[in-house]
Amino acid sequence: MAGGQWRDRTGKGLRALAACLLLAAGASQPLKAGGKINVVATTSDLAALATEVGGDKVSVNAIARGYQDPHFVEAKPSFLLNLKRADLLVAVGLELEAGWLPPLVTQSGNARIQPGGPGYLDASQFAEILEIPTAPVSRAMGDVHPLGNPHFWLDPQNGQRIASGLAQRLAQISPGDAAYFQARLGDFKRRLGEAERRWDERMKPYRGRKVVTYHRSWPNFVKRFGLQVADYVEPRPGIPPSPGHVVELMALMRRDRIKLILVEPYFDLKTPQSVARETGGVVVVLMPSVGGNKDVGDYIRLFDYDVDLLVKAFQQTQ
Ligand SMILES: [Zn+2]
Repeated sequence: MAGGQWRDRTGKGLRALAACLLLAAGASQPLKAGGKINVVATTSDLAALATEVGGDKVSVNAIARGYQDPHFVEAKPSFLLNLKRADLLVAVGLELEAGWLPPLVTQSGNARIQPGGPGYLDASQFAEILEIPTAPVSRAMGDVHPLGNPHFWLDPQNGQRIASGLAQRLAQISPGDAAYFQARLGDFKRRLGEAERRWDERMKPYRGRKVVTYHRSWPNFVKRFGLQVADYVEPRPGIPPSPGHVVELMALMRRDRIKLILVEPYFDLKTPQSVARETGGVVVVLMPSVGGNKDVGDYIRLFDYDVDLLVKAFQQTQ
């Protein structure tokens, strides 16, 4: 299991190394003295939130791009360079990054950003987590959501909670800038609140509507906006659709008159398109992350974009 591997890789040898590095760095000194705080976020969404709160006191790098499947990211040498000099690593957690992040963090040799270190922040601790399994889930079965749904940033309330957590941690790293981070957080909350009222107004006519989604990326989003997911193109998270499952899905969509199939930009559109053709539905390529295309440059614009696409698709299929 990936979780076990993580623990093995960060075993005794690494802890000893981490201890040496901490001593060498002078563990009793302030975590950050002067200059910008180097933040590495595993996803573009966490990077966007860190930028909202950190402003010009931080230099933020994202690892996964907004158009990539965050479960499967190919490691590049540049990631390691950024991790080596990071003051803060912000991760989604819930094993979203289990397939690619642990070896990078270990190889970085950066004691600060090891799990449990002062520069490691697991964003899932601040968020409302849905779909927490009630029975043990084995990754060997291919399920990529073993600890609950890791796509929680798609509820703006979770975005706000994560931003608050970031402000707190950034203030610990650079206490002199605490008031600056709080002011930025306050401004972000105010703009997000205004945007939420706008989104609620637009989505109100479609409350209770059923949709189909490709991957289980949207439970927090649909809960927030009052939609329902009737079924998924993937039979289980991370498992491609089988012909039998597709037949059942089409029967369900016809029976319940479900018209929208929401697909993330990194999945093959062939199956969703053929399902839509057979059932009189439409495929909507929603953006699950900031930077998925040029129109979703920040966290608020991500929801502007998705709400706009959804409203148009509901109108088109009335
Ligand atoms: Zn997922």
